[in-house]
Amino acid sequence: MNKILVTGGAGFIGSAVIRQFINDTECSVVNVDKLTYAGNLQSLASVSDNPRYRFEKVDICDAAEVARVFGEHQPDAIMHLAAESHVDRSISGPADFIQTNIVGTYTLLEAARNYWSALDADRKAAFRFHHISTDEVYGSLGENGFFTEETAYEPNSPYSASKASSDHLVRAWHHTYGLPVVTTNCSNNYGPYHFPEKLIPLVILNAVNGKPLPIYGKGDNIRDWLYVDDHARALRLVLERGTLGEAYNIGGWNEKTNLEVVQSICAILDELRPQGAPHSKLITYVADRPGHDKRYAIDASKIARDLGWKPQENFESGLRKTVEWYLHNTDWVRGVTSGDYQHWINKQYRVL
Ligand code: NAD
Repeated sequence: MNKILVTGGAGFIGSAVIRQFINDTECSVVNVDKLTYAGNLQSLASVSDNPRYRFEKVDICDAAEVARVFGEHQPDAIMHLAAESHVDRSISGPADFIQTNIVGTYTLLEAARNYWSALDADRKAAFRFHHISTDEVYGSLGENGFFTEETAYEPNSPYSASKASSDHLVRAWHHTYGLPVVTTNCSNNYGPYHFPEKLIPLVILNAVNGKPLPIYGKGDNIRDWLYVDDHARALRLVLERGTLGEAYNIGGWNEKTNLEVVQSICAILDELRPQGAPHSKLITYVADRPGHDKRYAIDASKIARDLGWKPQENFESGLRKTVEWYLHNTDWVRGVTSGDYQHWINKQYRVL
């Protein structure tokens, strides 16, 4: 595969995927991104001058523009990451999630199908549509068990329901039209360039600035955490070697309660940025998210067994790298936390 079309490449995971393609391979990349509040071209500053990188500011819901991009760039594969991705925003305003995650995926599938069906036999056989999704489509776990690729879908939030819908559309385009697809469902990612509406970057930046560290409910919700570069490596592997029509779960075997995550960040900051009181004094319990799923945990043994993938980063080293990145990249942080962000974040949490 020489040319990959990445949707949502200005976002957190998409930008990590593009940096890897440009830095670690000879592939060319076309980044198709609408640049919503979550899209940030600064995250691609290290590769944007490379002649193998191109950017198209396009909404994936715009069928004519998406068709133009396929025609002009003639990609060998698509990695579809563009999405509205924040559960809290999906609760207060689901419309954008329905539009981008469902209608946008449908629009992209149709454009891909038209383009793919007109390719010559060799390129047609090699073409791949890789849909990137979440473990949240499976709903919530009790104390035991893991999500496998066979777990029934039970999405509980507008975000996860919209992602589940998109997974089903991708599956249907394979079974009905033969479009060569692979789907991946991943657990919570963390790492550099993460927009600070999500738990880990929000807590790092609030702690550095002496602001309250909001924790939903009792802080006992459990998530499985994966370093973003490990996810990007897994995605590239599935794109290259995944079996068509199949799904792969990707996770870090790394379950933590939200409270444990926040306490770990505080301990790292106590060491790197000591101040009078421990940073954990800033922990503030806030009203829980409606319908908050209790526990997610991924069984990632299929991708390990079939494709030989395993995460390289453990949570302690990955979290330390992440905290250090936020401390050192103040220009990037300033860029994303100015303007509307402050207004939005101040309205988010109700202290208990
Ligand atoms: P993100 O919110 O950081 O980035 C999303 C990107 O999509 C942004 O650059 C945004 O501008 C772009 N976008 C949004 N709507 C668009 C539209 N209509 N047209 C074109 N571009 C549009 O998201 P992320 O955290 O990087 O997640 C990427 C993908 O991975 C998503 O599909 C998400 O569901 C999935 N995922 C994320 C996680 C996680 O922990 N972050 C875990 C599993 C799966």
